[in-house]
Amino acid sequence: MNELLEALPPDALVLDLGCAGGSFRASGKSLTVVRIDLEAAKPAMPNFAQADAARLPFRDHCFDLVVSNHSLEHFENLTGALQEIGRVAKPSAALYVSVPDATTFTDRLYRWLARGGGHVNAFSSAEDLAARIQAATRLKHVATRTLCTSLSFLNRKNSRTRRPRKLLLLGDGTQTSLHLFSFFSRLSDRWLHTRLSIYGWAFYFGNATAPIDRHPWTNVCIRCGSGHPSESLRHVRVRRLFVPGYSCPDCGTWNFFAADNLK
Ligand SMILES: [Zn+2]
Repeated sequence: MNELLEALPPDALVLDLGCAGGSFRASGKSLTVVRIDLEAAKPAMPNFAQADAARLPFRDHCFDLVVSNHSLEHFENLTGALQEIGRVAKPSAALYVSVPDATTFTDRLYRWLARGGGHVNAFSSAEDLAARIQAATRLKHVATRTLCTSLSFLNRKNSRTRRPRKLLLLGDGTQTSLHLFSFFSRLSDRWLHTRLSIYGWAFYFGNATAPIDRHPWTNVCIRCGSGHPSESLRHVRVRRLFVPGYSCPDCGTWNFFAADNLK
């Protein structure tokens, strides 16, 4: 998504759709980011509106970029929300969508732990979903990339509410347990061709003129969840007891390092 934000002119208008507390930071550029969620923002945020994604309170064709980051799976009226994205996006806009793949271990684990976790839409085909979004928004599908996970949503340091008791079976969200998951899932995917480290997909639509890296980024931070291409981590590599690792460029947390090798 950062490549789309970087390519925008300084006066661009961006919609962060279904963002809870904000799904990305837009620091460093003078963009105007409007954030929308069905639930009120806590704490309060500037440019935030509480609204239904299927009834957006904006005029037609006003946004240069729409971001739906991990939100389509939550929308009760998905068709209505997609039509609204098409209505409020400029014909020259870009659209970024990320969703979990419902067939993965990660999404099944999330639904099991959180009793569904508010995921009312289960997506199992990237091609079908891309076609549906393109048809509803009239923004042309440009690229799809696979996203990996570190299970950072389980990290007890990120948790503001009571953790489910079932989580005790999986290490209770300690960073040590997440390090072990990251290590063994990457190892298993590489040598046994499993899909344990896969989260879902990112889709790019419309005027996505910036070069898009379509390769999956294996390294995802266990604390903040941000992914980075392994090539870019060369300068933050930190070994611990002979284990290859890196210090997350976004939050500084030490993570196990793996070379990007997924297709
Ligand atoms: Zn981080």
